[in-house]
Amino acid sequence: MIGTGVLKGMAVTLRNFAGSYFDKDRLITVQYPEERSPLPENYRNFPFLVYDGNDPQAGLRCVACQICEKECPPQCIYIIKSKDKKPDYVGKPQFYPAVFDIDISVCMSCQICVEVCPFEAIKMDKDFELSQRERFDHLLLRREQLSKSNDYYHKIHPVEAAAVDKNLADAAAAAEAKKKAAAEAAAKAAAAKAAAAQAPTTVASPESATGSTSAPGQTPPETTKPQS
Ligand code: SF4
Ligand code: SF4
Repeated sequence: MIGTGVLKGMAVTLRNFAGSYFDKDRLITVQYPEERSPLPENYRNFPFLVYDGNDPQAGLRCVACQICEKECPPQCIYIIKSKDKKPDYVGKPQFYPAVFDIDISVCMSCQICVEVCPFEAIKMDKDFELSQRERFDHLLLRREQLSKSNDYYHKIHPVEAAAVDKNLADAAAAAEAKKKAAAEAAAKAAAAKAAAAQAPTTVASPESATGSTSAPGQTPPETTKPQS
């Protein structure tokens, strides 16, 4: 019958309208910005740089390897590598990005920069309230604006951040074990070399002086005494 579809549609609308007064799941509108729907774990917007510890610059994981800059499809990352090294948050000297900009007017949120980073240094943010009056400069995010703590990362992506922390801890433990094994092997080799250097040198025995061919440590062959 003509119009059945319209009536069915109206019935669905009426059911949801009336149900929204009793069932919270049917109420899909929130009064933004006073109310906000929680974002799912995998929601992503634009990238940010993760730092460990309390100092955004000392703790920056990024070592300015520029892989993400090369791989970014629309080429919206701009990095200048430092000339010097600075201690990271555990005191290890590292290069760092003297400049790290992302043009979010160009970024297409593809996450490729995150996938290719070998240092877990760049992750996707959930912040979407980034509108600006100026179209160009104000949408170019600088290193200082991009740097956010690991605690913030845990807050927005708790499952993913916990997995990343575990991977980093496992990698650090494996590197430490490898270093320890190498140090033990080097110590053993040094001890063996020292022992070899201290071993007594062969002293010429009376037998060898008389032409005996017995090797050092070997019992010389018995000689037959002349019969009297
Ligand atoms: S999310 Fe994609 S487009 Fe945006 S900076 Fe990363 S690689 Fe480039
Ligand atoms: S964010 Fe990662 S891939 Fe990009 S420069 Fe820094 S360390 Fe390299």
